[in-house]
This record gives sequence, C-alpha cells and structure tokens, in this order.
Amino acid sequence: MHLHELRARLRAAGAGPSHERRILRTWSQALATHGGKRPPASFFPAGLLAELPAIEAELAGLAHVQSVHPGADGSQRLLVGLADGQTVESVLLPRGGLCVSSQVGCAVGCQFCMTGRAGLLRQVRSAEIVAQVALARARRAVTRVVFMGMGEPSHNLDAVMEAIDFLGTVGNVGHKNLVFSTVGDPRAFERLHRQTVRPALALSLHTTDAALRRRLLPRAPDMTPQALVEAADAYGRASGYPVQYQWTLLAGINDRPEDIDGIVALLHGRWGVLNLIPFNSVEGSGFDRPALDACERMAGTLHARGILTKLRHSAGQDVDGGCGQLRARALGQAGP
Ligand code: SF4
Repeated sequence: MHLHELRARLRAAGAGPSHERRILRTWSQALATHGGKRPPASFFPAGLLAELPAIEAELAGLAHVQSVHPGADGSQRLLVGLADGQTVESVLLPRGGLCVSSQVGCAVGCQFCMTGRAGLLRQVRSAEIVAQVALARARRAVTRVVFMGMGEPSHNLDAVMEAIDFLGTVGNVGHKNLVFSTVGDPRAFERLHRQTVRPALALSLHTTDAALRRRLLPRAPDMTPQALVEAADAYGRASGYPVQYQWTLLAGINDRPEDIDGIVALLHGRWGVLNLIPFNSVEGSGFDRPALDACERMAGTLHARGILTKLRHSAGQDVDGGCGQLRARALGQAGP
C-alpha cells in the first residue's frame, strides 16, 4: 500500500482531514503502543468507526519484526517481514536514529554490498517505509530517519519522496533529520530541489576516480565524481543542510595517498562532511577492511588538509552489520 492509497481509503470510509490526521499520527508515531489517549468514539463518524478495526489491522499487517539483533554499540538491527513474505532490514541507531530500507534488494550492484548481489526484487511501498518507522517507534523513540538501508532511494523515488513528505509533516521528524542517501542520480537531484519537505543529502562517493567508480558501482548513473559533487553541493547550499559524503574504505582500493589527493581536490571548499566508513567484511567479496590505525591516519591527514572528516563505523557490525547481510543470512545466502 502507498500512503496516497491509504489516505484515499480513509476518505472513502468517511474520514475528514482531522480524522485522517489523527489516525495517521497514531499509527506512524506508534502512539497507541505507548498508551496514547484514543479519542472518544464520538470523534469519528459512524461509518469510519465501523471500518477502523479493519484499517488498523491492515496497517499493523504491513510489516512485522521477524527478528531483533542487538549490537554492542547500542544499535539494534531488525529483520522486518513484509506482508508478501519479503524481508528488509531496519537499524535502530544510537541517539534516536533509524536506518530504513527503500527496496527489497537493489539494482545498483555495488561490488562491496550484499544487498546488491541478488539484484532488485521489488520496490518498498511508501506505507511500508513508514511502517518501518512505526515498528521502530514501538521499541523506542525515533527522531532521525536515514534512507541508508537496503536499496537505492533514487530508484524508488516517488515512494521515498512520499514517505519523506509524510514523515516531515504527520510523522514528526524534523526535515534536517530526514536523510536521503544516494549513489547520485540526476532525477533525484532535480526532484529534491522541488520538495516541500527537503531532506538532508548523503552522497555515496567512495572514489574520485570515474573509472574506478564505474567498476565499484557498475549500475549507478554514469555521472563523474566532479558532476556528482557539484550537484550535491548545489542542493546542500539550497536546502541549508551540509552534504554528507560517504566513503566506504576498502583496503588498497580507495585509501591510498592518491585518493587523499583526489578528495582534497574535489571536496575542498565544499559545504559538507566526509564520512569514512571502514568496509564491513563480507566473505567472498574480494575486498578487505583497512586496519583501524590506517583509517585514523587517513582521517587525520584529510582533516589537516582542510577536509572536515569523520571516521564512522556502520552500526551493529557485530551482528551482520553490513547492508543486506542480515537478510542474506536469514535466507541462507551468507557464509557461516
Ligand atoms: Fe544498492 Fe546501496 Fe548496496 Fe549499492 S550499497 S548495492 S546502492 S543497497
């Protein structure tokens, strides 16, 4: 179900704007789970009241937590089952963050990503994206939602934008706390500028070498790193939120002195932060995770050369933390 279909269904059942808003708020903010006060029955028209149990059951059936995998860092990875039996991953991050999935599988095929291995299985619908937030909120407060789980949000743009708009209005998430994370796509850059709810942007850059990027991200839109950074920078300045440049660190591939030079040449003077994320080893991927002290040295060198750099760790690494690994393991695709 998409959110616009849900809204149409509520209206067909007799909901006015205030009824619709109340039902959607209660669902997306998991207010009922936390003992939120229900309005008196007289608040709803009789026809809607009669249909409400069925609608609420349908909302509850959109997604369920299939398994929970707590990490030592306070994160919790959730394997989320969808109504048709497909599964996606959501990750509760420390400090109120939640990482959601926008697709089952992914067509971009990044060489270092487990999700990309199986290709795209299906799109996640906008109501299923919000259902991931509702499920997480039933467990704890969520104040920040990042679209960095399974899938490339640009490849499911209508649903992702609908979910972002919803979360930034009915869903009580601050606009700068919604993070659209992409490998970069002209359609997404163009669309983001037109949004009423403008999210912050994270750009998965990974290298400043166009040929290497084509190898690492074989089915990403063919934009050069230069063009990507220019488009991201323009949106960051227009939205008022600095861009997060994502760089998965692969030993010997993109952690070399020439990579540092490339980063400085491309990002110096840009309004953003570079997040270095050491690769989370996947058996059989052919990539290695750099040693921690090498990652720290790289971050320090970049900082000294004028690039705001943070060394990050993907949450829940001790519990199959890489994107798609949990799902793959549940399906028996990952190694022991
Ligand atoms: Fe898709 Fe993201 Fe994985 Fe790349 S890293 S294959 S864009 S899910």
